Amino acid sequence: MQHMPVYLDNNATTPCDPRVVEAMLPCFTTHFGNAASRNHAWGWAAEEAVQQAREEVAGLIGADQQEIVFTSGATEALNLALKGAYEAYAVKGKHLITVQTEHKAVLDTCHHLEKLGAIITYLPVDGQGLINPDDLKAAIRPDTILAAVMYANNETGVIQPIPEIGRIAAEHDILLLTDATQAVGKIPLNVSKEGIGMLAMSAHKLYGPKGAGALYVRRRSPRVRLTAQMDGGGHERGMRSGTLNVPGIAGLGKACALAADEMAGEALRLAVLRDKLEAALVAQTGAIVNGGGAPRLPHVTNLRFPEVKGTDLLRVVSREIAVSSGSACTSANPEPSHVLLAMGVPEELAHSSLRFGLGRFTTESDIDRAIETVNHTVRSLHAIYNL
Ligand SMILES: *Cc1c(COP(=O)(O)O)cnc(C)c1O
Repeated sequence: MQHMPVYLDNNATTPCDPRVVEAMLPCFTTHFGNAASRNHAWGWAAEEAVQQAREEVAGLIGADQQEIVFTSGATEALNLALKGAYEAYAVKGKHLITVQTEHKAVLDTCHHLEKLGAIITYLPVDGQGLINPDDLKAAIRPDTILAAVMYANNETGVIQPIPEIGRIAAEHDILLLTDATQAVGKIPLNVSKEGIGMLAMSAHKLYGPKGAGALYVRRRSPRVRLTAQMDGGGHERGMRSGTLNVPGIAGLGKACALAADEMAGEALRLAVLRDKLEAALVAQTGAIVNGGGAPRLPHVTNLRFPEVKGTDLLRVVSREIAVSSGSACTSANPEPSHVLLAMGVPEELAHSSLRFGLGRFTTESDIDRAIETVNHTVRSLHAIYNL
């Protein structure tokens, strides 16, 4: 096989854990039934696999199994949550609150709702990427339906104070929706204790398959109402019609069960490796940690490298390590990351930022290779620029 770089882009997607693949396989072949077929053994076996997954997903986040709605991923879950609540709570109002550093799945959905008449407040963040809970309180109006605040940021790993935000939401009688796609299975969280009304997650960010995810929808105190965005056979208690993706759902369930057992130990191991990477690069290249002063996910670091051109840095390091940069390369002219800009990082430094996402299969020698590669690249670029 050709020389492969080290994979340090686990925030973009994770590999499937082989134990997850094993749990999925029977659902393609022997247990291929439609979970909605009530009259024969194939249907019952599929329904049983879905039911087990529902309990595993619910168990990981402190929910009841009846509160889990399976979707195709976090993007769909967030669309259902935002559009579904906007329709269902129209009598209360048209005002939503979110944050400038949210994922595009939230921001673009909000932009869509604005075209339909929604009023949206986009809360700023401080230099560390955190919102100020007082800003949230001040933004709440009598016609506010919900606040959408992500649990942990996909670019920086910065963790918002969700329990505090949940208390504010409850006091003011608005719903809290959290995009927990990067947090679920990585750090402990509990929807009941943290005042979360809805939570979005995705299997492929926690060692499960792509194309499977879930929305947690609270059933009591308060019961969250949603208008379905997909009409059809009334699956998922009417909230998301469509034949269930049984293999994907079984994979999501297994991924959650593994995370419940292993995430505490995994977080400790990855924090050691992340800290080693971060400390070495800060000391040897003068890099600065984006969001370094905030609580962060244990396996993520986002570093800005002063005095190097982002495009040069990424081109050279990509031969040895797979990472993401602080540029959204959706066009010929890359845009600087909206997350880093909202944190006050200057455009040039956003471009010269790199995101390292460690994962379950990252080893210490991977980290040593990453340190060596980035140090060498930054030093060579400095030498070239000074010629
Ligand atoms: C990956 C990601 C999403 C989108 O999830 P999909 O399942 O790929 O649609 C949404 N929010 C965050 C924070 C993510 O990291």
